[in-house]
Amino acid sequence: MAQHKAIRDYIRTIVDFPHEGILFRDVTTLFADPRGFRMAVDQMLHPYAGLRIDKVVGLEARGFILGGAVAHQLGTGFVPIRKKGKLPGATISQAYTLEYGEAIVELHDDAIQPGETILLVDDLLATGGTAEAGIKLIERLGGQIIGCAFVVDLPDLGGRKRLEAMGMDVHVLCE
Ligand code: IMP
Repeated sequence: MAQHKAIRDYIRTIVDFPHEGILFRDVTTLFADPRGFRMAVDQMLHPYAGLRIDKVVGLEARGFILGGAVAHQLGTGFVPIRKKGKLPGATISQAYTLEYGEAIVELHDDAIQPGETILLVDDLLATGGTAEAGIKLIERLGGQIIGCAFVVDLPDLGGRKRLEAMGMDVHVLCE
C-alpha cells in the first residue's frame, strides 16, 4: 500500500534565504498540493472544531492563506493583522523586536468586539515575537484567544514556550 505523505513532507527547505546561514522553511509547496493543503487546514482547526470561535485572525502574509481557509471551514469571519501602513481604516499598532531592529503590526480598531472568541493562525512559529504582538493587539480590543495554530514550530527558537508562558493554547502540526 502506498505510504501517505505527512505535512512535513510537503514543506521544502531553502538554504540561505533570506540571508546567508538561514534555512527557510517554505510552505508554498504545501499550499500548492491539494491533499497537503486540505490536510493542513483540517489539522489546524481540529482541536477547535467543537468550540465557539467567533473569528479567525491571520498574521501577514501566509497566515492569510491558512486563516481564510480555516475561517471558511469553521464558518467564522476572518480578520487580518498586517504590517504597518497596509490597513485602510483606523488601527491599533504593536511594535515588536526582530533579530535586527523593530517591526510594527496593526489591526483595525473595530475588527474585534470585546468578548469575541478568536483563533490566531500563522504558518510558522520561530521566536514567537510576531505572534506575541498579534496576541497583544487582539487582547487590547478585548478578544479572548481560544488558541494559536501554526503549521511549523521551530522549537529551538522558543516561540512555543513564550506563548505558553502567556497562557496560550499552542497547536502545531510539525516541528
Ligand atoms: P517569529 O516572530 O520569530 O516567531 O517569526 C515568525 C514569523 O516569521 C512568521 O510570520 C513566519 O511567517 C515568519 N518566518 C520566520 N522564519 C520562517 C521560515 O523559515 N519560513 C517561513 N516563515 C518564516
